[in-house]
Amino acid sequence: MEEIPVKVAVRVRPLLSKEILHNHQACVRLVPNAKQVIIGKDHAFTFDFVFGKNSTQEEVYAVCIKPLLVSLTEGYNATVFAYGQTGSGKTYTIGGDHVASVAVDERGIIPRAIQELFHHISEHRNINFRVKVSYIEVYKEELRDLLDLETSMKDLHIREDEKGNTVIVGAKEFQVECADEVISLLESGNAARHTGTTQMNEHSSRSHAIFTISIHQKQSAEYQNAAQDSITSKFHFVDLAGSERVAKTGNTGERFKESVQINSGLLALGNVISALGDPKRKSVHIPYRDAKITRILKDSLGGNAKTVMITCISPSSLDFDESLNSLKYANRAK
Ligand code: ADP
Ligand code: MG
Repeated sequence: MEEIPVKVAVRVRPLLSKEILHNHQACVRLVPNAKQVIIGKDHAFTFDFVFGKNSTQEEVYAVCIKPLLVSLTEGYNATVFAYGQTGSGKTYTIGGDHVASVAVDERGIIPRAIQELFHHISEHRNINFRVKVSYIEVYKEELRDLLDLETSMKDLHIREDEKGNTVIVGAKEFQVECADEVISLLESGNAARHTGTTQMNEHSSRSHAIFTISIHQKQSAEYQNAAQDSITSKFHFVDLAGSERVAKTGNTGERFKESVQINSGLLALGNVISALGDPKRKSVHIPYRDAKITRILKDSLGGNAKTVMITCISPSSLDFDESLNSLKYANRAK
């Protein structure tokens, strides 16, 4: 059987202490061993992976991400997305924020993947690795280079090279030698993400953050045989904008335009993922061009690339509508 290009996971976070304090009830539960999530009384959805309130960061990494890291080292592109409403656990799961200060057990996907990548490199001394990092934000359909705020968005362009690789012309790429260097670039990008905006939570919940690790590998001369060329591959870690609906935000004017544009990115992504999952996809048009986020990820979604979407869900009954919407979005992506 042909492999499904996009795997879909759902992670339900625990009730937070402030929610418990305010007596929120949980309206989401898992069916043990059935990979099923039930919301409300009996609305059931089945996914490739489901993680409940007691799931650990290690478990999510081992089940969803480790296979992608293996693919990366074999030369394939990989993408992981965190989707969900603001406050559902996207950043916690992707692990892009406060990396240095978080307890080791609590570390999310990015630091674990980085650690494993450098471990792999240290165990393959016969291969020359070159690792590069970039960090881009998409806000209101405009790109921002989080590793170089001097670069104005006018100087960033998404291009496809002759081999079909997507490149962001003008984006800073830093070559790195160890895990700590990657973490410190990630942290400086996070700091940049919050500058120039008065309401940082607002801003980060309305933008997509794409952290990318590219690797280039070549056999050392002494091991080289003619058949083996160098290989390049990349891993995107994407913390998507909050999926909450415009109506709930209830804003007009500029703010309204923002939510519409952000939702159009999520909509385009949903359409691409859904088209990729179509059994007739060889003949179906994949609408990559509809948004910046899908254009950027084009060479890392579908084809030989491995993709996991982790849909994050709040269990609180106050978030019922958003959680149901997220489960529907995820269901469409299967
Ligand atoms: P988002 O990025 O989707 O807005 P966050 O990742 O910031 O959401 O999570 C919101 C809050 O919930 C944070 O305080 C975070 O630490 C907590 N949280 C999220 N997921 C979990 C989890 N699986 N276990 C424990 N706490 C979590
Ligand atoms: Mg977040």
